[in-house]
Amino acid sequence: MPLHEYRCLKCHRRVSIFLRSFSDIETVKPRCTYCGHDQLERLVSRVSVLKSEDARLDALADDAALADLDENDPSSIARWRKGMSSEMGEDLGDEFHEVVDRLEAGQSPEDIETSMPDLAGPGPLEGI
Ligand SMILES: [Zn+2]
Repeated sequence: MPLHEYRCLKCHRRVSIFLRSFSDIETVKPRCTYCGHDQLERLVSRVSVLKSEDARLDALADDAALADLDENDPSSIARWRKGMSSEMGEDLGDEFHEVVDRLEAGQSPEDIETSMPDLAGPGPLEGI
């Protein structure tokens, strides 16, 4: 596999570097294609690793879907949360779906929290 993945230690983006051969790994100094920084951390090829829960979450965080997440747009958040839910492969419960429905209806997270006092502790809205 001539394609190697690195993470830039400066801008923390994932960088794919194409190397012609394995010996290039020793001789070619990879640079971040985004900021030009030369301190890159080698990432283990994802295909060869059984995806752990952490890796799955990491992949989620890197997911392109996140790129168009507009945190000021409730329906955008709802879409993203729905995708998160299905990716996690678990049902997050009626409360979660109610929150998503309300977000889709255009309610703000603050309004929902106010009208759903049962959302105790770290709930579905944490992190918004
Ligand atoms: Zn960089």
